[in-house]
Amino acid sequence: MTTELFSTLPLSPAMLANLDSLGYKSMTPIQAQSLPTVLAGRDLIAQAKTGSGKTAAFGIGLLNRINPRWFAVQALVLCPTRELADQVSKEIRRLARAFDNIKVLTLCGGATMRPQMASLEHGAHIVVGTPGRILDHLERGSLDLAGLQTLVLDEADRMVDMGFYDDIAKVVKACPAERQTLLFSATYPDTIRQQSARFLRNPAEVVVESQH
Ligand code: ADP
Ligand code: MG
Repeated sequence: MTTELFSTLPLSPAMLANLDSLGYKSMTPIQAQSLPTVLAGRDLIAQAKTGSGKTAAFGIGLLNRINPRWFAVQALVLCPTRELADQVSKEIRRLARAFDNIKVLTLCGGATMRPQMASLEHGAHIVVGTPGRILDHLERGSLDLAGLQTLVLDEADRMVDMGFYDDIAKVVKACPAERQTLLFSATYPDTIRQQSARFLRNPAEVVVESQH
């Protein structure tokens, strides 16, 4: 197996140094296959098993497009559960150490609304959350996605299994048409393929088969 180094990607020296400090020497297979497409700005559907490094595959991509000096929500990551949203926020914060002052906000159900609304008033560059709560904020007007550049549907298979499809569709409607959409999943059954096709525009598809 060939090792593909992060340094082969068009990333800033600061991001490369940060990846090195995180101990990320070479790309995992899903990262190697998806990052060139993600960094080129194209929509993507990516499928690889749990633990294969999917968070960094979209995290490095969305961070690369963030303008830290513009205090608007530029990226939104939808996750099926609070636990997964917390994990994704944590990983994005680690990756974001390469930049000055990138604010990542986690918005999940189960927590009281008011502190979340106060945090949103202070602004954030990246929001990670569960579909129902994100929709709630959109409907109350506490979250504005007009400046969104990147939408990520993480664990899309689980989100659809958990009945979030309608909420996701409504959130997508609140996103600018001109955006990059990335769908990551551990499995990608036909039903989800058909249902999620309308969220993406001419997506590239990457599948990393799991080794048994
Ligand atoms: P997935 O979303 O596919 O389940 P994660 O994004 O949670 O996987 O990553 C699994 C683990 O692999 C995490 O602990 C993460 O820090 C680590 N990881 C990700 N990319 C790399 C890399 N290129 N080199 C080493 N470790 C990595
Ligand atoms: Mg994941």
